[in-house]
Amino acid sequence: MSRGAVMIECLYYAKTTPIITVDDWKPRLEDRFQDESEANLSGAPECIFCEIVSGKAEASIVFRDEQVTVFMDIHPVNPGHLLVVPNEHASGIDDVPEAVCARMFIVGRQMARALRRSGLRCEGVNLYLADGAAAGQDVFHSHLHVIPRFRGNPGSLGLQADFSVVASRDELEVQAEAIRNSFDAAGDVV
Ligand code: AMP
Ligand code: ZN
Repeated sequence: MSRGAVMIECLYYAKTTPIITVDDWKPRLEDRFQDESEANLSGAPECIFCEIVSGKAEASIVFRDEQVTVFMDIHPVNPGHLLVVPNEHASGIDDVPEAVCARMFIVGRQMARALRRSGLRCEGVNLYLADGAAAGQDVFHSHLHVIPRFRGNPGSLGLQADFSVVASRDELEVQAEAIRNSFDAAGDVV
């Protein structure tokens, strides 16, 4: 993605989230993207979530601030499945600074509330974090899943997504917009 496209995308989200203004974003973007090679903030090689955070990889972003980014999971357990990730690369939860870890859970809770009001089917929510390969972690950039659940779903540890199914970007964008709108409408200040 070009620097211009990244700026347009970020300015769009700055306009559609309640707590970030365009003026907040401008200086940060200028600092960040003076050099394209620095666009991957953490510099972690070949980390898909670093690529998403820096705007190099495609994602349907719902929320972002200085510490965390929230986007749609591409293999959703259910429609509306979100991931909350720290902006700085950290492999496991123990590598995430305590304040950022707290932020992940605060934003995760706000996203759960937004999901319930979004119009997407959501009768319950699982907050789920896999830490380590033995616990089922596949992407080694720590992340908190926020998963809408409803009657008939398997129990809370039966979360397995069907990885043969990749959600369409159009569907993810529609769902992301519904969640953003629900978040905005509630006037939540994260
Ligand atoms: P885990 O198994 O807890 O490490 O979860 C990793 C999650 O990342 C899975 O639910 C994947 O579907 C999701 N994922 C992997 N690549 C992408 C991507 N490019 N965009 C969105 N979600 C992704
Ligand atoms: Zn990373």
